[in-house]
Amino acid sequence: MNRPHVLAAFAASLGLAATPVAAQPRADAPVMTALVGGSVVDIDSGASIRDAVVLIEGEKIVRVGPSASIAVPPSAKVVRMDAKWLVPGLMNMHVHFGLKLPGAEGAELMNEKDGEQILRMAANAHRTLLAGVTTVRLTAEDRGLDFMLKRAIGKGQAIGPRIESAGELIVPTGGHGSLEADGPAELSKAARLQIKAGASWIKIAISGGISDTHGDISAAPMTDSELSTIIEVAHRNGVKVTAHNGSSEAAMQALKFGVNCFEHGYHLNDQVLTEMKKQGTWLVPTIVVSQPGAYEFYRKIGSPEWYLERVASTGKDHWAVLQKAIRMGVNVALGTDQFPFEPNGGTTATVAEAELYHKAGMTHLQALQAATIRPAAMLGVDKVVGRITAGQYADIVAVAADPTKDISALRTLDFVMKGGVIYRNDTAPETIAH
Ligand SMILES: [Zn+2]
Repeated sequence: MNRPHVLAAFAASLGLAATPVAAQPRADAPVMTALVGGSVVDIDSGASIRDAVVLIEGEKIVRVGPSASIAVPPSAKVVRMDAKWLVPGLMNMHVHFGLKLPGAEGAELMNEKDGEQILRMAANAHRTLLAGVTTVRLTAEDRGLDFMLKRAIGKGQAIGPRIESAGELIVPTGGHGSLEADGPAELSKAARLQIKAGASWIKIAISGGISDTHGDISAAPMTDSELSTIIEVAHRNGVKVTAHNGSSEAAMQALKFGVNCFEHGYHLNDQVLTEMKKQGTWLVPTIVVSQPGAYEFYRKIGSPEWYLERVASTGKDHWAVLQKAIRMGVNVALGTDQFPFEPNGGTTATVAEAELYHKAGMTHLQALQAATIRPAAMLGVDKVVGRITAGQYADIVAVAADPTKDISALRTLDFVMKGGVIYRNDTAPETIAH
């Protein structure tokens, strides 16, 4: 609803029109919103504009600058952002809205029907957005439910972040995933079917996982012809490939064929990290899943003892790999493999993940970039999201202190706007869209 216009018309009917008719928006003009009085963080330099105005028309930012230099149109809906720091909406590149893990909670979901699952996924998408995550990449969902949810969000039938999805996880028979395909022909078909359904990434598993009860996390079960073919098919369709991987041998093999991204990187050696740096290959660490902050989560979901032990032993290697990757300047984009809003160490998994990047060697600004503009670059959407600049979608969150000086400022996140619509504003709930 065009609220400012309706209010102006209402005031005019009472003879209270404060603005000349010519200055009022046309009935079909997009809603203008002005975020006024906050500090806007320049995500590239870390500098900020104090006492700023961000002018938003419809879904997009039209102007950003000091309030002294920008006139707020009288028709604009003004939202005060005093004492807040505005940063681009957070991005989480390893998310499963339909996540099921081993343990009591996972067992309960074993017989979940598609209708139940997509409703659960929609609820998780909503909570993700309210946690400040305005863009996600889904890295394995079931039976096309992710594409349905994405369409529903696009039509306004569900609330959630922008979604890029890899569809179903494609694996060789017995691998770490559900969609099994063997040999170049089957793997090509599997990839093409996911792309046809809407996948903008292809995800493969080139080694086992922490939660597997069979297969070896350090093995490389795919043949060269299988791996090279599926990567080539994806690339010929303009789609990038990411690999679930815990194995250096499998990593070197995939790098030979131009894989774009690795998930987790639990056990990657120096040779792999050097090659990733050389090729610009991305690492999405999901470090929260193997560090102590996640133990409360595993206990909550009733994970078996063997799983907790495996997490603890993997965690040490995982941490060392992350530290080394950061030191070597490997491309890192934030991802959690937990729900983005999942409680972790007194905050959300997304914020905890960014904090751990700082602890592992990134500057505060680098950690903030890994949670915003770096994922946008990895997705190839950084021209339209990831910065608070004119021409970009108005995906903006606000926190109570400068996160470029201390990444933990993200813990105070209390305002979420996506595409110019306010979904959360704890200090002024009346500004939230309904
Ligand atoms: Zn995952």
